[in-house]
Amino acid sequence: MRIVVDLTRCQGYAQCVFLAPQVFELHGEEALRYDPAVPDGQLDRVRQAAAACPVQAILVGEQVNTGAR
Ligand code: SF4
Repeated sequence: MRIVVDLTRCQGYAQCVFLAPQVFELHGEEALRYDPAVPDGQLDRVRQAAAACPVQAILVGEQVNTGAR
């Protein structure tokens, strides 16, 4: 499953980092790094992170632009 984080929206609240630390990493105040190819075992955590993100910056799977493979 692929994800995209809209880094122009991300405010570095780090909710995603707490919920899925194997996928999301915060470097410094607002520099979010993440793994766009989510391992199957992390999917539930990533969905929780997407739901918890205060600015809805995390797009998961079906929400990701299908034009980009
Ligand atoms: S929860 Fe949302 S705003 Fe916060 S670091 Fe993650 S993507 Fe960015």
